[in-house]
Amino acid sequence: MSESFYITTPIYYVNDVPHSGHAYTTIAADVLARWHRLHGHDVFFLTGLDEHGQKVQRAAAQAGIDPQQHCDRLMPHFRNLWEKLTIAHDGFIRTTDTRHHAVVRQLLHTLYDRQLIYRADYTGWYCTFDERFWTEKDVEQGNCPDCGRPVEQLSESNYFFRMSRFQQRLLDHIADNPTFIRPESRRNEVLGFLQKPLEDLSISRPKSRLSWGIDLPFDRDYVAYVWFDALVNYLSGLEYLPPRPSVDRFWPATVHLVGKDILTTHAVYWSTILMALEIPLPHTIFAHGWWTVNSEKMSKSRGNVIDPYTMVKQFGADAFRYFLLREIPFGQDGNFSLESFIGRINSDLANGLGNLVSRTVTLIERFCAGTVPCPDPAACAEQETELQAAATSLLQIAMPHHLRSDRIAYNRALEAIWSVVQLGNQYIDKTAPWVLAKAPAHEKRLSTVLFHAAETLRFLCLAIAPFMPNTAQAMSRQLGFQYDFSRALLKNPVAWGDGPTATTVVKGPSLFPRIAIPPQHGASMEQSASPRTMPSTPSSPEPDSNTSSVSHSTQESDCITIKDFQKVRLKVAKIIAAERIPKSEKLLRLRVDLGTEQRQIVAGIGKTYSPDTVLGKTVVVVTNLKPAKLMGVESQGMVLAAGDTDVISLVALAGDVAPGTTVK
Ligand SMILES: [Zn+2]
Repeated sequence: MSESFYITTPIYYVNDVPHSGHAYTTIAADVLARWHRLHGHDVFFLTGLDEHGQKVQRAAAQAGIDPQQHCDRLMPHFRNLWEKLTIAHDGFIRTTDTRHHAVVRQLLHTLYDRQLIYRADYTGWYCTFDERFWTEKDVEQGNCPDCGRPVEQLSESNYFFRMSRFQQRLLDHIADNPTFIRPESRRNEVLGFLQKPLEDLSISRPKSRLSWGIDLPFDRDYVAYVWFDALVNYLSGLEYLPPRPSVDRFWPATVHLVGKDILTTHAVYWSTILMALEIPLPHTIFAHGWWTVNSEKMSKSRGNVIDPYTMVKQFGADAFRYFLLREIPFGQDGNFSLESFIGRINSDLANGLGNLVSRTVTLIERFCAGTVPCPDPAACAEQETELQAAATSLLQIAMPHHLRSDRIAYNRALEAIWSVVQLGNQYIDKTAPWVLAKAPAHEKRLSTVLFHAAETLRFLCLAIAPFMPNTAQAMSRQLGFQYDFSRALLKNPVAWGDGPTATTVVKGPSLFPRIAIPPQHGASMEQSASPRTMPSTPSSPEPDSNTSSVSHSTQESDCITIKDFQKVRLKVAKIIAAERIPKSEKLLRLRVDLGTEQRQIVAGIGKTYSPDTVLGKTVVVVTNLKPAKLMGVESQGMVLAAGDTDVISLVALAGDVAPGTTVK
């Protein structure tokens, strides 16, 4: 039996539609689940919804519907978002599932039978919003220490779980298992919390106050406290969700991912409940940080909530996934700004990865008839050894290290991947295949270089797959090896040179078109993310649209706007006369028909074309270029041609177009 890996997100409270915080945790879990599937591990990835409790009951009442209807309405918002974000969860649990109810009741009964649950009267300060009691010392000037709302004194008879009994055992467990609570700062917080005497936990709510919950099996006048109900999902999900995973197979959980605000609930409540039930504790509880927006807390009232649906629609799921995990260390708080998001898309994705893929495929198409060539060991140099070592250690050392579930450093893993992306781009710059292609003597070297560039991309797409599944798929398609990333592609170490041979590359659309930076920096998301500032087509040419940019990546400062581009008037023209200019081997004097007029153009295409070979050709001409004299002959425009230094080809049109037609 292969190693099992069970990862969970918290189940999300359905009092409202999903936000970026939900997306963050779920994406993070998805990456680890995919990483383990690639290694052939037995993976179960559970997420779902917490559908009971006061806030759900209240939201439903406000909408004038019953709570179940409210949950059923909100559920698709979550499921659809996971689909849009390419989340591949194995189980989706809802706490309104009757089979979940059965498990909760059974566990409550066990605790009751063991006399770990008792009934008592309790008087305390109650916050209706957070549905919890506070002690006198917690309350801050009559307000809830959590949400700041006024608390009220309430006396109630409730059922309590003897949590206090497990305080020492929990402290011992944390001491004996240094990776139980991660990261270290959060572990210290929990240890600090456990310095104070642990109280017993109220696990019931009287139905007179809250009816939307699971009935206590031993007293029908009460429902279970929503947190008790919710935490049990990690076990109940294993009991009944298809495809019938089992508790034996997956428990204890490898890692519970939680936001830092619910760490105590997991590290203390859940742990002691498990201890009382004599069920082993999860291996790791990893608490991540929160996102602020332009350095302010994300909140509806501020109107700065990042809508994950909008992000996916405008920038794509993979770019969003990449940014959230690349921008800040998992575990720390981070700041979301559209500017830095777009900055990363342009620098890391468009100029970095997108450019490497596009230029590699273009070079193989151009110089190897579209087939990934075979390398010649005799033509290998130190550069190839360096590339191979970097790509191999990425998959075998760096990523396994950073993605260990008690360490989880997505940003470091991505940094490691992007250092290979950078190395790949430098490799192409240094080896300059377009120069090698000019001399037949360099043929073997050229094949060797392009093989290594393609092999780098094969390693990269395996590394990227957990983070950016769509991109990995597109890369594997463009390189002609159709990887199925749901398979255990990393089960055995991937060897350099062992990929599919002689695959046919297929040029695809640009993976990451560059995005214009919105003019209003620091504006609210709604404003700056509007389509008005986000052209659907890139305003700068794709990195591979002409030969010169195959050899270097477009720099940010080189960007022009669509308006700049429109200043250049391009028209279709037909060459109606051509002759060499005396004493020049490069220049031809052309007469072109622009439909409404004829012009004389001096073109530097004479080394590649003789006058008779261009006669009658349809070309593209810049018509608003300031006239200039070349070898004493006036040129009233410019003919477009491709080539780095020397002209390789005139720019032709894909279909029949009449002279004078605008090119845009
Ligand atoms: Zn409160």
